[in-house]
Amino acid sequence: SLIFNPSLLWVMVGWRDHQKIQKPLSLLQKKGIRFLNSVVSKIDFENRKVFTLEEDFTFDYLVTALGASTYPDRQKGFQEAAYNLYDLSGALKIREAIEKFEKGRMVVLISSKPFKCPAAPYEAALILSEYFKRKRRDVEIELVTPEPLPMGVAGQDVGNMVVSLLQSRGIRFVSQHQVESIDQTKKEISFQGGERISFDFLIGIPPHGIPQVLNGSPILGESGWVKVNKNTLETDLENVYALGDVTAIKLAAGKPLPKAGVFAHFEADVVAKSIEAKINGISPKKEFDGKGYCFIELGNGKAAYASGNFYAEPDPVVKMKRASRFRHWGKAQFEKWWLRKWF
Ligand SMILES: Cc1cc2nc3c(=O)[nH]c(=O)nc-3n(C[C@H](O)[C@H](O)[C@H](O)COP(=O)(O)OP(=O)(O)OC[C@H]3O[C@@H](n4cnc5c(N)ncnc54)[C@H](O)[C@@H]3O)c2cc1C
Repeated sequence: SLIFNPSLLWVMVGWRDHQKIQKPLSLLQKKGIRFLNSVVSKIDFENRKVFTLEEDFTFDYLVTALGASTYPDRQKGFQEAAYNLYDLSGALKIREAIEKFEKGRMVVLISSKPFKCPAAPYEAALILSEYFKRKRRDVEIELVTPEPLPMGVAGQDVGNMVVSLLQSRGIRFVSQHQVESIDQTKKEISFQGGERISFDFLIGIPPHGIPQVLNGSPILGESGWVKVNKNTLETDLENVYALGDVTAIKLAAGKPLPKAGVFAHFEADVVAKSIEAKINGISPKKEFDGKGYCFIELGNGKAAYASGNFYAEPDPVVKMKRASRFRHWGKAQFEKWWLRKWF
């Protein structure tokens, strides 16, 4: 099934039924797309072949959209101590465990950069704070991250606005802390430089990396992610494209384009139209322009909204609009529209 990830944050607090945020990918068949549910075991770029556990394919065009994998095992102590915010089973476990969490210190920990959806951990902290407030529980929340500011690529103004939102809810923001290990017995996180932070309840964003099938692949760049032309999404290999979280696109100021569904979505449109043009013998015209947006859900029936041009030079130009009920409604409508439109 496809899981609509933004809604995992509502699943986590029981405000969304997890069945309602999933769609079977086999439904794509009604659009004339053949869907094979299998694991890609190898891609032979030289001979233009994809091997899966079921069958093998040769290709004229390839679109690599394998996403960023999460690797909880790459962070010492993560699997024993943390609830994983970034998958459905983790969100469901959080939902069950918070019901019994009456009092204490909750830490939302970002293990490392890059991670999917720069806003999601901050939204999670805000939503959890509202959840505990409604239940009148005495829970302190801290958000700990290696980043200097939230959503750093979007610029200082956006980052400072998110910090203000956290502070207005009494959520402590602890920046520039790179975790070294987590000790479940002592309920303590150790950071580079020797500092320690204790927790009663730990929610973690695990380390991210390329899917294993791409290890050693010729389409990887220096960053370790897939290197593409930032406008056409073509890799250095002709007619081999990549889009979404598996890519690393360097912006003018050197930072990477965030890993977010909104970009994967617009990039997919460019790639599809380029391949269509090539098949029809026309030179592709549509290019990805680096524009994107995101809702920032506060949990109190309101959402803020940030949008802008990440390809602007010398720095991305991103503006954040203040939180409103209308924007929260917009986020919920977007979820409905997305699941209906594509399936
Ligand atoms: C909690 C959360 C909230 C989010 N909220 C937002 C949001 O509000 N807005 C936003 O823009 N983005 C959001 N995102 C990020 C968004 O979900 C991703 O950026 C988006 O899904 C990326 O799409 P993708 O196609 O690149 O990768 P994915 O959606 O990860 O898809 C890649 C697929 O490839 C599969 N795959 C990998 N390796 C293999 C293999 N060897 N064989 C077969 N299949 C394989 C994976 O299992 C996966 O199904 C959120 C993410 C999370 C976790």
